[in-house]
Amino acid sequence: MQRVRRFTRFRLAPAVYSEARPVEVSAWVVGGEPVPFDEASGQRFEPVRMGMPWGRPWDTVWFDVRGVAPSAWAPEETELVVDLGFTADQPGFQAEATAYRPDGSIVKAIEPLNAWVPLPQSGPFRLLIEAAANPVVQVPYEYEPTLLGDPRTSGDEPRYTLRRLEVARRDLVVWELLQDVYALDGLVGVLPPEGIRRAAIVSALERMVDVMDPDDVPGTAALGREVLAPVLSTKAPASALRVSAVGHAHIDCAWLWPTRETERKVARTFANVLDLIERDPEFVFAASSAQQYAWLKDGQPGLYARVRDAVAAGRIRPVGGMWVESDTNMPGGEALARQFVLGKRFFLEEFGVVSDEVWLPDSFGYSASLPQIATAAGARYFVTQKPSWNETNAIPYSTFLWEGIDGSRIFTHLPPAETYNSDLDGPDLARAERNFSEKGVAHEVLGLFGWGDGGGGPTREMLAMAARKADLDGSPRIRLTDPTSFFRAAEAELPDPPVWVGEMYLELHRGALVSQQKTKRGNRHSEALLRQAELWAATAAILKGATYPTAQLEDAWRTVLLQQFHDILPGTAIAWVHQDAEAGYARVESLLEGLIETALAALTGDGDVPLAANAGPLAQHGVPAMGIGPASAPVPATPRVEDGVWVVEDDRLRVVVDDRGVLVSVRDRVADRELLPEGTAGGVLQLLRDTPREWDAWDINEEDQRSGQELLEPTRVHGDNDAVVVRHNIGKSTVDVRISVVDGHLDLAFDIDWQESQKLLKLAFPLDVRADRAASEIQFGHLHRPIHRNTSWDAARFETVAHRWIHVGEPSWGVAIANDVVYGHDLRTVAAPSGRPMVMARLSLLRAPRYPDPSADQGRHSFTVSLRPGGIPEAVADGYRQQLPPRALHGAPVAPLVVVSNPAAVVEAVKLAEDGSGDLVLRLYEAHGDRCEATVTTSVNWDAVEATDLLECPTGAGAVQRVEPCRVEVSLRPFELLTLRFRAPRAAA
Ligand SMILES: [Zn+2]
Repeated sequence: MQRVRRFTRFRLAPAVYSEARPVEVSAWVVGGEPVPFDEASGQRFEPVRMGMPWGRPWDTVWFDVRGVAPSAWAPEETELVVDLGFTADQPGFQAEATAYRPDGSIVKAIEPLNAWVPLPQSGPFRLLIEAAANPVVQVPYEYEPTLLGDPRTSGDEPRYTLRRLEVARRDLVVWELLQDVYALDGLVGVLPPEGIRRAAIVSALERMVDVMDPDDVPGTAALGREVLAPVLSTKAPASALRVSAVGHAHIDCAWLWPTRETERKVARTFANVLDLIERDPEFVFAASSAQQYAWLKDGQPGLYARVRDAVAAGRIRPVGGMWVESDTNMPGGEALARQFVLGKRFFLEEFGVVSDEVWLPDSFGYSASLPQIATAAGARYFVTQKPSWNETNAIPYSTFLWEGIDGSRIFTHLPPAETYNSDLDGPDLARAERNFSEKGVAHEVLGLFGWGDGGGGPTREMLAMAARKADLDGSPRIRLTDPTSFFRAAEAELPDPPVWVGEMYLELHRGALVSQQKTKRGNRHSEALLRQAELWAATAAILKGATYPTAQLEDAWRTVLLQQFHDILPGTAIAWVHQDAEAGYARVESLLEGLIETALAALTGDGDVPLAANAGPLAQHGVPAMGIGPASAPVPATPRVEDGVWVVEDDRLRVVVDDRGVLVSVRDRVADRELLPEGTAGGVLQLLRDTPREWDAWDINEEDQRSGQELLEPTRVHGDNDAVVVRHNIGKSTVDVRISVVDGHLDLAFDIDWQESQKLLKLAFPLDVRADRAASEIQFGHLHRPIHRNTSWDAARFETVAHRWIHVGEPSWGVAIANDVVYGHDLRTVAAPSGRPMVMARLSLLRAPRYPDPSADQGRHSFTVSLRPGGIPEAVADGYRQQLPPRALHGAPVAPLVVVSNPAAVVEAVKLAEDGSGDLVLRLYEAHGDRCEATVTTSVNWDAVEATDLLECPTGAGAVQRVEPCRVEVSLRPFELLTLRFRAPRAAA
């Protein structure tokens, strides 16, 4: 095989292009952000020669290429071959280019392993090539801090050298022979060495080398193919695994490049795909993310029209039905629902397509709420491969039913090749067979092939590989198909699939719950603003006839949904991306604040009575849920010094802070019970080492947390009106904490100037609670997770997500900890000083990773965390108290549009229907994990009331009963999500 491989590499591969003709090349350097074709094509181009250095980081260079396609060459042999100075690194992570005709239409992309452009007509031609000098930010990863991820610091040094631009003649026989050899060599690598099949292939490859003349590869290639033909025509056995191969290109909406580059990556990838579609009638390409189609529609309408045609022909399949391939740990319930609503609506309106699967191959763990949200959006299937990245445990199934917190189930497949970037070569297919858990009773697996992460997509070489393995001894059978056909076949052959219950926790990338805190704050805050804007705008539209700002709301949602992409919200992108994200959130805030102000002004009029608008689903400060009225805000307790310690108390809570600035007692005065175990301190800040083994912004390593310090020596502890204020100075960082007691809550407000590097800041509360599990809020409900380490699964879950609150309790008493913008938590049972077990609950406030953004998390941050005794209902209420505090204003009170009788039935969204009908849409869910009955009363009459899916289409479900023109009874199962659509009264005909 050494001889075969050397012959292939140094004789066969170089002989693919048998002749070449030079071209004339001139260039125009943009010197900044990308410009459209029309602007570029009108510039002055200067002649250039091969060997020219080009490409300041993130710059664009346009090449004007003029040449002649010789008439003696066949069109399929004739192509422009380009080498922009590509590196050996992964395609999609370096320079790429787009080739345009002089009329501005796109021909195809030019990428490191797909660097040719078809020249179908003989005679003179001209192409314009838009070359993107995307720097290799770091592949392979060494995780060293780099300045390349920010155009302001990335320097001016050209990153590339123009090496090759010529018209070349592709020898089709040599090319086909090369594909034969690649397919067979891939099998040699994976077949058992003692087996007959491998020996036969090796022997055939040897004879291929024997019969060929190394000095005349083109003249002897046909002979070589003849020798290989018998081993390539040996059929696979009946028992062979069946791989449904779907063309794909994973295109991260932003990561080691900004979103503006992704817009071009999408165009390049689709251009490649459209070219391949013409070459292979069986090839089907699946592409997710409505956002990416929307970019193409806006930026490349010509290419988009061709994509639409290919969708209509079934060759391109819009999949996933989400706006982007979002993170699923951190987006709130309504936002995750809107990922589907906006995505599915776009696919339906643009293509008439209803995608029936959820497509999230790469997100960092999968929320236990997702089965319900996905099925409520009409999805039947779910696909991901990311759980294969687990460090410790493997999900024991490849094809199974995934069951969420409410009991919803969705048919799920984890492609056992464990990649979404397959080349369909031997190793990927052998891995698929090795890992396919249901292989005793099933044959069907999904294979996603095509260059991805940075896009690019399938190549003609991959299609050649698929063709050779359609029915080949030693290989799984490859069939080019679409995802739905795969899922139907998989479902049919596995009538009784195994069931996985709860979240698919990713045992890796746990630090993504903490990194880039400002991006996370922007997300949580925007979700709250969106709720308020929709609620008040819908209320103003219905009660006052105000115009509902449909377009502005959609604009805000699109930004927020885009930024929930699985490398933006997790904080794992370059500096540029996070600067863009913060600017996006600032834009959303200003837009939504304007909408809220307008709607509230329309509702309350000109009066000067002090009021509060309560957008939350539960009454606050005496103002009813979702109403506007006079408020009686609770007054915080005044701290006093007693025996050298600070005491703050009201009639429900008594808190003691000592001179170390920590809580030494938190007493529930109603239950007469202490929250903190004896001899412990609460509200302690821990500054821990954070130097991960790899994947810096992504990972927290548990062993790092053995090293660090507790902040117990404040520079000052003093009383300031209604709070005890503690200041810590650590290095160049400062932390100010205001500790107060209000309305039975202990509130800690943090103002932090964070100047650390590779440190993790945790806030710790030891709790005198006996529990072996804890509840964390997730989308539309909560999840109980074990807090012991009985199994490797429990131990691996050392950092977990919670949204607005966590709760630990005994049957009659518990503690809720709520926050305004924290996602990372850890809860463990550990030994208290007494030797008895206690629960240690910690919130992860801040990190400071150095890669891929060396300045991540530097600067000012604020957090509020509250603690109180109570059960799950109190925890739910505290979560909304943190997220939706009443807003002060003046005018006349406004009764709520909707009143829900049972606090367990929580309203998550109030809005007008997506279709512009003026119908009111109300989304609620059961929040306590119990059955509940509730009456929904509206302040106006409706023609009809229906339960709908997330897309606001009636489901015919029986959970709703109308008892009066403006009253509806609903009954909900634990965590059930219910969307109600109130049909607006229509004018009589
Ligand atoms: Zn990705």
